[in-house]
Amino acid sequence: SSQPPTEQIPSFKLILVGDGGAGKTTFLKRHLTGEFEELYEPTIGVQVRPLLFVTNRGRILFNCWDTSGQEKVGGLRDAYYVHGSCAIIMFDVTCKSSYKNVSRWYEDICRVCDLRIPMVLCGNKVDVNKRQVKPHHVTFHKTKANLDYCEMSAKGNYNVDKPFLYLARKLLDDPDIVFLQGPAMEAPEVEMTDIDQQQKQYETEIAAAGHGSNPT
Ligand code: GDP
Ligand code: MG
Repeated sequence: SSQPPTEQIPSFKLILVGDGGAGKTTFLKRHLTGEFEELYEPTIGVQVRPLLFVTNRGRILFNCWDTSGQEKVGGLRDAYYVHGSCAIIMFDVTCKSSYKNVSRWYEDICRVCDLRIPMVLCGNKVDVNKRQVKPHHVTFHKTKANLDYCEMSAKGNYNVDKPFLYLARKLLDDPDIVFLQGPAMEAPEVEMTDIDQQQKQYETEIAAAGHGSNPT
């Protein structure tokens, strides 16, 4: 075919962290393409899922690293973070402690990776009506130049491509990048119609606070 070989596509290791139960694995599994590949790093169980996006500036590949649950029993080994080009820190908006631990995950990344790698803080499960963490509680990223904020629902397919878009813009150093095509998605498991209005208001608050988007 006329498609360039894989090695010509800019590829980046994406480190996915956050407390157990935040929805990390669910998030990666929403995308139908990119079969999980077991990676046999000594002492760590890791699954890597390559996710390809087509942008107005060409293709970009994220090799997304997911744990096999070690985060539930402690921290992750350095090998998980080594050579990370970008990161997503996920918490669960229905679980306060998962937000409290964001600082720990951030420090773990910074301990091993270049401090300038782009990262996105993701508040997941916004489909749930009884949120414990509201947008105005989310302040951690505000003092970090390389950390964006994004609200999402892995189960509702809500904003699931947004963190990848933020990272692509930073990694390719082009704020005008848009996705023309992402990986095919699983159908949503939950309807978000009931809370749409509330969520729209939240998005406005987040935008007005000047984060969760590209700082100009
Ligand atoms: P991980 O430990 O971070 O990998 O979390 P999992 O992906 O295993 O998800 C933990 C639990 O949260 C599972 O029961 C998921 O079905 C649930 N979950 C994940 N994402 C969402 C979401 O967006 N909304 C809701 N309501 N539940 C979710
Ligand atoms: Mg998991």
